[in-house]
Amino acid sequence: MSQSISTAQVIDEAGRRRTFAVISHPDAGKSTLTEALALHARAINSAGAVHGKGDRRGVTSDWMELERERGISVTSAALQFGYRERVMNLVDTPGHADFSEDTYRVLSAVDCAIMLVDAAKGLEEQTRKLFAVCRHRGVPVITFINKWDRRGRESLALLDDIQNVLGITPVPQVWPVGPAGNFRGIVQASDTEHMVRYTKEPGGTRVALEEVLDSAQAAEQEGDLWQEALEELELALDSGPGYDQEAFENGKITPVFFGAALTNIGVKLLLDAVVELAPAPGPRPLDGGGSREVTEDFSGVVFKIQANMDPAHRDRIAFVRVCSGVFERGMNVTRAASGRSFATKYASTVFGAERTVVDTAYPGDVVGLINASALRVGDTLYTGRKATFPPLPAFAPEYFAVARPKDISRSKQFRRGVSQLDEEGVVQVLVSDRRGDQAPVMAAVGPMQFDVVLHRMEHEFSSPITLDRLSYKLARVTDPDGQAELAKARLTDAEVLTRRSDDALLALFADKWHLSAFQRAKPDIRLDPLIATA
Ligand code: GDP
Repeated sequence: MSQSISTAQVIDEAGRRRTFAVISHPDAGKSTLTEALALHARAINSAGAVHGKGDRRGVTSDWMELERERGISVTSAALQFGYRERVMNLVDTPGHADFSEDTYRVLSAVDCAIMLVDAAKGLEEQTRKLFAVCRHRGVPVITFINKWDRRGRESLALLDDIQNVLGITPVPQVWPVGPAGNFRGIVQASDTEHMVRYTKEPGGTRVALEEVLDSAQAAEQEGDLWQEALEELELALDSGPGYDQEAFENGKITPVFFGAALTNIGVKLLLDAVVELAPAPGPRPLDGGGSREVTEDFSGVVFKIQANMDPAHRDRIAFVRVCSGVFERGMNVTRAASGRSFATKYASTVFGAERTVVDTAYPGDVVGLINASALRVGDTLYTGRKATFPPLPAFAPEYFAVARPKDISRSKQFRRGVSQLDEEGVVQVLVSDRRGDQAPVMAAVGPMQFDVVLHRMEHEFSSPITLDRLSYKLARVTDPDGQAELAKARLTDAEVLTRRSDDALLALFADKWHLSAFQRAKPDIRLDPLIATA
């Protein structure tokens, strides 16, 4: 540990950190919520990244513009801001057309997730997938039901869905006064004697005016809506186990908030919940047993590599989540996979187009290491006692395409590029004897990953390729018995390929009907769903 920074200071700094991400389906309001959160915040490191009220377009829109311009890849970075004596690290989860494995991997860098749900649409596909990853990784989830200012579903029905579809018990912390579309205000579960009423100022700022009414005033002014809110809240609370911190941290319950990110209703209460309920960085399990305490020497995990962020400089940033100790720019760290050490000369936080040099970072913080070319996704970095964190899981791909070099004479470049992209986890590379080495199958969880492959193969590895999409939609991990049975079955819309990076056998199916027909015929064959752990 650094000479100048004491253990007590590390404990204090780690205890102040809240590192979280927002998981949602496109259009649920993630960008709007990010801006609304930033409005409550004081940006610390990313000076200039968060603009004031006068320039509300700020943050996210600039950064999406940048992505559109480049047309490739996406930025997963953290926005750091101060709130109530805490240091909040909001790690971005790419989630639009750019939904990819990166979106999943980001969740290995956070201690909590906000599940953002559109009040009218309920639990949508990407939300469900991301929730499954949180559950798999033991990341506790806070639920925010958004867009209550617009017509939507009933509050109790939404809670039922959370219980029935996700299998996690919703515990409301606030309740909306008025149905979706007639959002009068909020009552907190902890204080049913008061209502916070919100009024939209006609033609005024986007932020709704806030006033506190006591229950007599609320009953008088809001009448039935107030009574209904109290009754529904009671019903929702009575049918559940109540809030319990341990149950939250173990993924048994999710505290639920209602609001409207667009008019900034309920956002502060959500932020307060992140401060009060989300766990601070804690000990992190090590591969092979034991754990790394936050007070030990520096360690961190690389959860994302961003290549070519700046086309002019061909630069490459490895995003590291600090897990223990203090990161100081310039320090020598060891890469666990190779045992080699290197100097972290260029370190910065990155949010969108903004970069700010980081000199010191604590557990929970995210640091971007520039041009650390040896680093790979999933790498552990450390100083002092050796640490290796468990590998990041690989996720079941849903998009498949055969890659072929456009110019056969460049097969060396082709192979080098393919193996580099595989190692970096840009896509999963699958091979079979039948297809051969010159026609590997690229597998991705989102089609955007293919754009990145095309671009990088051409510009970085000088081997332009074609990608022919295959019609498979599902992958399952199987074993040699499963492979043999599938071969025997001679299904036209199924095949087994080997994942290059870990020799796992992936059975690919055209759709769920082909899969279930095969499963019914061969119930004993191993076909593991969802998340394939590397
Ligand atoms: P993202 O795709 O999840 O980042 O969603 P955006 O933040 O871009 O929001 C999608 C659309 O929903 C935009 O038109 C927003 O203005 C709108 N929106 C977001 N939050 C709210 C809300 O609380 N109320 C209403 N009425 N619209 C919202």
